[in-house]
Amino acid sequence: MKVKKFNPPPAHRNSPSKNNANQPHDSIKINNIYILALTVCLAFLIFGLAFVHHAANLSREDTIGYIQEATKQTKFAIEEHINEEYATLMAAAIVTQEKNLLTDDKELSELIKSLGANNAYVLIGFADKNGQAVWANKHNGRHRANLSRESFIKQALAGKNTLSEGQLDSLKSTVHYYSVPIFDEKTGAVKGVIFAADPQDELRMIINRSLYAGKGLAHIIDNKGNYIVESDNPLAIGTGSNIFELPVPMNEETRREILDNMAARKAGHLKMSFQGENRLAAYTPLALNDWYVFYAVPEDLVSAGLKNVTFGTAVIISIATCIFILFILLIRKVNNHNRKILEKLAFVDRVTGQRNYQKFLIDAEKILKNTKGIQYAVCYSDIKGFKYINDLFGRDIGDQMLHYLANIQQIISQEGEIYGRISGDTFVALRKYQNKHDIAHRFDSFAQQLSVFPETFQSGYKVELYGGAYVIDPADGDLSLNDMLDRAILAQKEVKLAEGTKRFCFYSNDMREQKLWEAEVESKMDAALENNEFQVYLQPKIDIQNNNRILGAEALVRWLSPEKGLIPPIHFISLFEKNGFILKLDKFVFETVCRYYKENILDGNLPAYILSVNVSRLALIQPDFISSYTAAKNFYGIPDGCIELEFTESLAWKNHTLFKTIVAECKRNGFLCSMDDFGSGHSSLNMLKSIHVDVLKLDRQFFLYGDDVKRGQKLVKNIIMMAKSLNMKTVAEGIDKEILVNQLRTMGCDAIQGYIFSKPMPLESFKQFVKSWSGGENKAIQTG
Ligand code: C2E
Ligand code: MG
Ligand code: MG
Repeated sequence: MKVKKFNPPPAHRNSPSKNNANQPHDSIKINNIYILALTVCLAFLIFGLAFVHHAANLSREDTIGYIQEATKQTKFAIEEHINEEYATLMAAAIVTQEKNLLTDDKELSELIKSLGANNAYVLIGFADKNGQAVWANKHNGRHRANLSRESFIKQALAGKNTLSEGQLDSLKSTVHYYSVPIFDEKTGAVKGVIFAADPQDELRMIINRSLYAGKGLAHIIDNKGNYIVESDNPLAIGTGSNIFELPVPMNEETRREILDNMAARKAGHLKMSFQGENRLAAYTPLALNDWYVFYAVPEDLVSAGLKNVTFGTAVIISIATCIFILFILLIRKVNNHNRKILEKLAFVDRVTGQRNYQKFLIDAEKILKNTKGIQYAVCYSDIKGFKYINDLFGRDIGDQMLHYLANIQQIISQEGEIYGRISGDTFVALRKYQNKHDIAHRFDSFAQQLSVFPETFQSGYKVELYGGAYVIDPADGDLSLNDMLDRAILAQKEVKLAEGTKRFCFYSNDMREQKLWEAEVESKMDAALENNEFQVYLQPKIDIQNNNRILGAEALVRWLSPEKGLIPPIHFISLFEKNGFILKLDKFVFETVCRYYKENILDGNLPAYILSVNVSRLALIQPDFISSYTAAKNFYGIPDGCIELEFTESLAWKNHTLFKTIVAECKRNGFLCSMDDFGSGHSSLNMLKSIHVDVLKLDRQFFLYGDDVKRGQKLVKNIIMMAKSLNMKTVAEGIDKEILVNQLRTMGCDAIQGYIFSKPMPLESFKQFVKSWSGGENKAIQTG
């Protein structure tokens, strides 16, 4: 079932503000905000850590760049050293071009002396083109031998500067032989070789420079990875003769890549594990002998700072995120707690501890959005005269009664039904509807249990409950819950105003139409009176005992609405009695009748008839009622006994003493008095004894004899006789059947007012009627 979103309840229902109606939506919104905040925190954490990771990677690349740079620096230093050694030997070669050092001992000694003094050579020598060599050690004497098989001699004789791999000299120290060719000045052919040996430590000294606090390793290797000059760092000891000879073998792919690079004389870098540590390594080719500088440092060493910063940043980001999340959770907890307190304030009824109206609306709306095929009724109830209970028993007892009533609501409610207090003594419930009987029965039980509320019950005070219900009908369209409740209230008001024995009733569309009609009438009645839309009609009363002569006429008002046409009094009199407008209208009718009497009977040529007007219950209790009516009668100079005032029987019954006084007073002021509608309600024959009305108007109910015609007739006959004996005339109202005219005449009834003779007619028409009246045709005129 579709339920229109409810509007804020009207102010009189003492309901909380509109904002509270949106509480569930607000709480969803708040939850969403929390989820959003947590998501932002997590996103911050993820992005923060990702950023740190990325920055660490970038820094790692930088680190590799540094190592490659350090490797290059070492390479340059080595090459510079080697080139210096070559340059020295080349200078010596030029100097000795013309000399045969093999035979010229003096020259050789000079050379050895000059080179040995400025260099770290441990050996210097000369070989002729046949490889016949003479050399001198730094410490022991001169040697001669044929060195043509030595590679460094061969290569130099082939015209190439050469540096040998490490070799053991006579002192068992590892040395490297540098050799450069000596060219014949004239022919340009190689005529000999100058060579010298350097201790390997000369190169090692270079590679040992800047090795990261002794934790780095630098080697000169060949393109197969064999050590040419191995680092003397203790960490390098025991690593075999090749960089690939590691306790944890290098992964094959890396090994292949290194060898391929070296074969192609390319530089490169790698990550390797050595002695339980990760190491970053780089290699770059030297400009001679397919040699390489290989450089390795522990990764932790170069990236320790970076690692610390990375770790620290990640920890800070994580802690900050956790603190944020904790804050958010804390705020949420506090908010939830506060919300519960506010919800209690906003949704729990202070007196009963149950739902207040606002909460009822929210919950009922939820139920009606998903009825699962169940039909519901909105039920409304309030305690009769609760104000007096508060006055009589005190507010505390009043509150206890409301609490008690709320508990009964709870007890009589079924699963899936909800209930609450609107305000004051008004309660609302949404009940499952099976049939009208069930709902009415449950209301009775509700009311019955309330009636035995101990405090009032023991004092003999009868507490009563009035209720109304609206059965939700999809055919009524999308009604809001307030509209539904209004309908239940309308039904309840209906029973309350009826003042009968009924205590509960269901809403019907007629009630609503009546309400709408009343609203429309109320908005137009004043203007209608000013615009002369109210018209006085007269209905004749025919004296059936005297040749059907006209005895008088009753003034009956009509509303000639320009929009709705002629509206009979039944549609507006009771409303005007409720809203007080009847006072103005009755006065208007009375004055119109007086004026008519003066103009047409006193001053005109119409025969003297008694004209009667109806007096409403409200007019009767006005303090100036008699004086103002008398003043008007006198103003128009109407003699006594010409105007009759009709009071309804219910009026006399309700306030017998007042009625008796008023009738007596009216008669004293020259009015005739009649009791109207006698027999329509709670007639009391006893009442007639003390109230001296002139006329008894028998209600048409009397003549609807029903099954037992004889009995009915007897009753009417005896009432007529009794009225006669009390000096009252009788007028039978609403007679529209000819047979009744004869019967009533026989029974002694004085007059008839009914359609059988004439319907009520406008004042002008009545004049014509009087003129043309000849006792009525076929109306069983008694002659004689
Ligand atoms: P009421 O005073 O008892 O008036 C008699 C009603 O019976 C009139 O209805 C009249 O038209 C109707 N009636 C007369 N003969 C017949 C008949 O043969 N058959 C039927 N079915 N009805 C007949 P009306 O004019 O509709 O007035 C209804 C009631 O409205 C009156 O009942 C009276 O209580 C009230 N009323 C009318 N005019 C006024 C007024 O100016 N002031 C006050 N306070 N009440 C008025
Ligand atoms: Mg009347
Ligand atoms: Mg009447």
